[in-house]
Amino acid sequence: MKKILVSLHDVSPVMFDRSRQLTEMIMQRTGVKFTMLVVPDFHCHARIDKFPEFCSWLRNLNEAGVEIAQHGLYHLDTDEKFSIEGKLFTKGEGEFLSLSRDEAGERIEEGYKILSDVLGEPPTGFTAPAWLYSDGTRDALKGFPFKWIEYRWTVQFPSGSKRNIPAVVFASRTLWKRFCSALWSISGPALFSKHDVFRLALHVRDLPTLEKSVETSLSRSTNGRACLRCADLTQL
Ligand SMILES: [Zn+2]
Repeated sequence: MKKILVSLHDVSPVMFDRSRQLTEMIMQRTGVKFTMLVVPDFHCHARIDKFPEFCSWLRNLNEAGVEIAQHGLYHLDTDEKFSIEGKLFTKGEGEFLSLSRDEAGERIEEGYKILSDVLGEPPTGFTAPAWLYSDGTRDALKGFPFKWIEYRWTVQFPSGSKRNIPAVVFASRTLWKRFCSALWSISGPALFSKHDVFRLALHVRDLPTLEKSVETSLSRSTNGRACLRCADLTQL
């Protein structure tokens, strides 16, 4: 049977209500088999361990079987000299795009510790905001026991092996992105229908204007496919 990996990006206490709504919507289609990407300290002012209700919600989901992974630390490029690529594609949120090995290592370590303390176990995998990684970040990640690291076109495993898995991505913060995402909701799943497995990436902040497209895409993507968490790829 073909497979689908659904992930929800940008989960944090700042968007708790929206995160809950979308999680419910996703779970109606996937059950617990999807991956939640949590930002440990969104924009430097929402450390998850300061929000008890959020933490217990997260723990309950984790215990139920939802996969919880680390999504950067701040989801913010705090480097004054934002790169052109970061500015163009992420509005300054390409947190790991220009970090050195040491800088990246410190941030990953801090987020890893926050999430591990909250969950009582480490996050399974790592996805950098906007899938943007500096060489230093790729290097620093070798020092962490993640079961997988997610890139724009691939998912990488601890052995260093990579698997190409295309992704349908939703984003709505500009008119152009909304247009593309609405189009994607129909064409993406159809385009990848021959692929054994593909990813559907949803973003908490981007979705209110795309509610219908997201529902359509979720139902088309999951129809006739087995739902997987990223960590399940290691068992295939
Ligand atoms: Zn993100």
